[in-house]
Amino acid sequence: MTHDHFDVLHFDVLIIGAGISGIGSAYHLQDQCPDKTYAVLEAKETFGGTWVTHKYPGVRSDSDLYTFGYRFKPWIGAPIASGAEILKYMGEVISENGIDRHIRYGTRITSCAWSSAENLWTVTTRRENDGAEQTYTSRFLWMCQGYYDHERPYVPDWQGLSDYKGQFVHAQLWDPATEVKGKRVLVIGSGATAATVVPALCDAGAVVTMLQRSPTYFYCHPNQNELADRLRQIGIDEETVHRVVRAQIMYDQDVINRRCVEEPDAVFEELKMAVRAYAGDDFQFEPHFTPKYRPWQQRLAFCPDGDLFRHAAAGNVTVVTDTIDRFAETGVITSSGTLIDADIVLACTGFRLSVMGDIPFTVDGTRVAWNDTLNYRGMMFTGVPNLVWVMGYFRASWTLRVDMLGDFVCKLLHHMDALAVSKVEVTTRPEDRDMAVLPWIEADNFNPGYLMRGIDQMPRRGDKPEWRHNQDYWLEREEIPAIDLDGAEFLYDGQRASARSLQAAE
Ligand SMILES: Cc1cc2nc3c(=O)[nH]c(=O)nc-3n(C[C@H](O)[C@H](O)[C@H](O)COP(=O)(O)OP(=O)(O)OC[C@H]3O[C@@H](n4cnc5c(N)ncnc54)[C@H](O)[C@@H]3O)c2cc1C
Repeated sequence: MTHDHFDVLHFDVLIIGAGISGIGSAYHLQDQCPDKTYAVLEAKETFGGTWVTHKYPGVRSDSDLYTFGYRFKPWIGAPIASGAEILKYMGEVISENGIDRHIRYGTRITSCAWSSAENLWTVTTRRENDGAEQTYTSRFLWMCQGYYDHERPYVPDWQGLSDYKGQFVHAQLWDPATEVKGKRVLVIGSGATAATVVPALCDAGAVVTMLQRSPTYFYCHPNQNELADRLRQIGIDEETVHRVVRAQIMYDQDVINRRCVEEPDAVFEELKMAVRAYAGDDFQFEPHFTPKYRPWQQRLAFCPDGDLFRHAAAGNVTVVTDTIDRFAETGVITSSGTLIDADIVLACTGFRLSVMGDIPFTVDGTRVAWNDTLNYRGMMFTGVPNLVWVMGYFRASWTLRVDMLGDFVCKLLHHMDALAVSKVEVTTRPEDRDMAVLPWIEADNFNPGYLMRGIDQMPRRGDKPEWRHNQDYWLEREEIPAIDLDGAEFLYDGQRASARSLQAAE
């Protein structure tokens, strides 16, 4: 039986979102659970999520594509890829695997309601082109809707912004038709987005100022992988190159992650050495390139071929480290009283966190407050059955977790079939009774602004490994495949596996 007709509104599994998480999840589902019917529901008219939304100059990954790409499709380009190259790669995954006929574009989910009487999700949607409502039903929801609002970025509440007569735009809403040649562009921010747009704007002939509140760590490296080049040179097939280079990169990242914690000063010295290779030995790190926090407490921004520093050393970009006092008619006045005139102000000020796509959820008629739930290993929630959420890594490539959770969900679905149950949920175990309930992530572990601004809306974490997203791929790649699905934290049709087997034995 085929399920590719668009009038079919019931599926075994609904995947929400056709970004890199949703497409990867669809691949794993149809590969590992070929008997399950599924659809991917996507609000946009195309796939790609983040890589469609962002069109700012130079938009690219800051992870290497050997690990940001899926484990099942070799990456054959340079490690850092443009947004367009990522979309091309995803497009190939979709067409090579016949995923296209399962995706329903222009379909925005407006509510999700679980019924325990029917063991079923009812998902209401709005078609974006004509506003028509449609209702889907599904046994299982696979939430791949990302973590930020794609329509409304985060813009601080700056005084006087309405007085500014130039063009003000947030990077997330940048129109690629904007002409920048010869224009004075003020870039606000110094994270990964700013590190990408500043060199791209310089290349396009803009006169660029980067205004940062505080400095960021940068990692400069040629946009090539020597091992991949060497393996190819000696005739190794692309599948093997992909597998080996992924392993090498993950190993190296593990080492650097640990060193960032154990010997942050030595790491910083090495980062500086890498900068000097592009910007010269006399490059000044004080005051604009000496951060106050530990490397990788926030994402380390990557500079392929040292592009930002080449422009900084050549005097093509002026860096200002200061806060904004207010906007004026012609630009921005900093707290120390300097007026920075600009034709265009480009805010790279981050995202507005969106928990579960801001979709209202109910369970048996009661509204789900995500911040009242406990989050099982950053993927399931107490009190919310038959639902898995894909939230990737911040320090490692997001997609590593997409592949890993793909395996987990498929294993869980098989397990439910074997038990002949319709409902799975997570619950605290007797030994969790006195467990401390904490904010979703420790502020000193990883603290990007969007997460800290929205931490109150996030689910809660416990102080045991089962009840936290530990942001540690190297730990999880052992832990997640080893999860005992009969463990006391899983309820199947409302019962622990141990109680079920006891009943079966009686
Ligand atoms: C500019 C930028 C660069 C990044 N670079 C990297 C990087 O190099 N490496 C890395 O690991 N991470 C990076 N990240 C983090 C990045 O967001 C993830 O890696 C990844 O792309 C997220 O994919 P996703 O599919 O989970 O979510 P998204 O890309 O956000 O896609 C979610 C999809 O769900 C859809 N959706 C949401 N709500 C609804 C709804 N109610 N109804 C229907 N559809 C809905 C959205 O339209 C969207 O298409 C970057 C993020 C940004 C913004």
